[in-house]
Amino acid sequence: MKTGKRIGIFGGTFNPPHMGHIGLLQEVFKKAGLSKIHVVPAAQNPLKAQLEGPTAEQRLEMTRLAVASWGDEFLVDDQEIRRGGKSYTINTIKELRKKVDADDLYLIVGMDKLDELQQWKDITGILTEANLIVTSRPGFSFPESVEELPAPIRDLVEEFDFNFIELKTGRNIQFIRMKDIEVSASEIRKWIRTGKSVEKYVPLSVEGYIKKQGLYSPSKEKVGDFESFTKFCGEFLLTKKSIAVRGFDLRNLSAPAEFAVVTSGTSTRHASSLAENLMQAVKEEYNLYPQGVEGLDEGRWVVVDYGSLIVHIFYDFVRQEYSIEKLWTEAKDLGLKEPAR
Ligand code: ATP
Repeated sequence: MKTGKRIGIFGGTFNPPHMGHIGLLQEVFKKAGLSKIHVVPAAQNPLKAQLEGPTAEQRLEMTRLAVASWGDEFLVDDQEIRRGGKSYTINTIKELRKKVDADDLYLIVGMDKLDELQQWKDITGILTEANLIVTSRPGFSFPESVEELPAPIRDLVEEFDFNFIELKTGRNIQFIRMKDIEVSASEIRKWIRTGKSVEKYVPLSVEGYIKKQGLYSPSKEKVGDFESFTKFCGEFLLTKKSIAVRGFDLRNLSAPAEFAVVTSGTSTRHASSLAENLMQAVKEEYNLYPQGVEGLDEGRWVVVDYGSLIVHIFYDFVRQEYSIEKLWTEAKDLGLKEPAR
């Protein structure tokens, strides 16, 4: 349906929403001449491991608070949370397409997400039903040639003209440079956890909500001392025949967490089952779920995020490839040993 109005779609976890998101919304709105941007918080995936942290409704509320002071140019759209389950952008776009012509729809993503797009469901469908706006993000540079684009997008290119790409689907991709705002939701969660001020990076209303609801710091109450918790996790993994388990105190480094455990399994299946067993043991001992889990299905590099502690469980072959321990040569090695039985 031709309405002549250019509508943006900006999805994310918004856990929590921050000034990086707000800055992006304001600049893109102006620079792309949009009439409205739908801000769409993603649902949690109920099929995956149960997680600590805010519920989908709390993230939705924080997103509403974050954009509340900006009139009606930004509309918080709860369709993914209402649908629940896995949130696929193609479904969200199809829903909006009932009211808006494909030509007038603009999916907005940060440059850090461009490579990830190839893993999204039906990327060709997405780039048929909507245009794409890619915005700059500190630490990521725009592609300078077709070869630098992720493969499924490369195949759709009709014409590449630096900041503008015409696609064979009839849609286009624009790259828009923004003022740098160096912040991410994971850093904010870490600052809150460690009692640092987030005032400059989160709208006041969101900060107030986080405090009132006691978000992002529940694990401290359940875990108490994270050094002992790290040892518990490491020692548990040792009893499960995990390879070369190492624990690190990262408090002197600027790492995303204060503690880390690194280990590996003999196969991808072993790595996944180590992670599952660990989550079960932590649940029993501490009544605690992780704040995030990644890579559990593939078992190549499973990341179990307990806030102040991040546990990396690799398939051993992949561990050799990344050798992330090299990042932590300055950190204190906790010298983990299998507990005496
Ligand atoms: P996390 O740190 O948990 O990965 P995030 O801060 O990247 O989270 P998301 O909710 O995953 O936040 O991001 C939603 C969108 O906002 C993405 O397209 C991302 O690229 C963009 N974005 C997030 N932070 C910034 C920032 N500081 N500057 C520009 N774009 C950003």
